[in-house]
Amino acid sequence: MQFRNPKSKNFKKLKEITRNKRCIICLHKMKNTGVFVWSVKLRDCNRIKCINCLTIYGTDFNIKTMGIPMGEVGSAWD
Ligand SMILES: [Zn+2]
Repeated sequence: MQFRNPKSKNFKKLKEITRNKRCIICLHKMKNTGVFVWSVKLRDCNRIKCINCLTIYGTDFNIKTMGIPMGEVGSAWD
């Protein structure tokens, strides 16, 4: 994914999260599981998603959408 505005304030904040934080839900390092989420509306990246548990965080590392553990997603569809 490419960012048209890689030096935005939000981008810097998200970058800091990937450097320093662990996912609150699954405790994986955001360095490994964090992906930036692009907002078409804002034309900026303002969210970061943990690809392990799918929790989405805002730029202040506040939870926006609670992730669901992979195992439970699977069993729900059985
Ligand atoms: Zn996680």
